[in-house]
Amino acid sequence: MSRHARRRGNPEEVEEMPSWKEETEPMVHNGRIKVPYTWWVGETGSTFFISLRDEKKILGTRCPKCEKVFVPPRKACGQCFCTDMQWKEVGPAGELVSYTILRYEETIHPIEPPFGHAIIKLDGADTGLAHLIADFEPQQLKCGMRVEAVFREERQGNILDIHHFKPVA
Ligand SMILES: [Zn+2]
Repeated sequence: MSRHARRRGNPEEVEEMPSWKEETEPMVHNGRIKVPYTWWVGETGSTFFISLRDEKKILGTRCPKCEKVFVPPRKACGQCFCTDMQWKEVGPAGELVSYTILRYEETIHPIEPPFGHAIIKLDGADTGLAHLIADFEPQQLKCGMRVEAVFREERQGNILDIHHFKPVA
């Protein structure tokens, strides 16, 4: 019996129904839903964000096997899968590895333009942190230059507790 068979009074008596797809073109419309949600950032994420909020300290995790320091911190080493990671404070200054500058207004921008999206390798870290760069003069930015974190006065325990990075004076 097909999925579309319909039972009548007599259980032995069935009538095949045509698939609706044979008679009607399936129409698909695009929509958009907005769903507020919260999630736990995990043990490693909690320690990292609480340190930013309460002490203005940027923490990474160091693998005791390969000695690589990850920022943001990882619960396990991405190189050798060691799970015995150790906390290590890094920064608050480091090297500008890469950047792109935004000069236009947009409501979703976290800070006023001009600013940049940047990858910053903090002192003591082996990986780059994606963040914002601002407070720079035109033509001032160069890959490899020194930059430092500028913390917000009122911090909430998220990555924007670092307001942005700026060139070291
Ligand atoms: Zn490792």
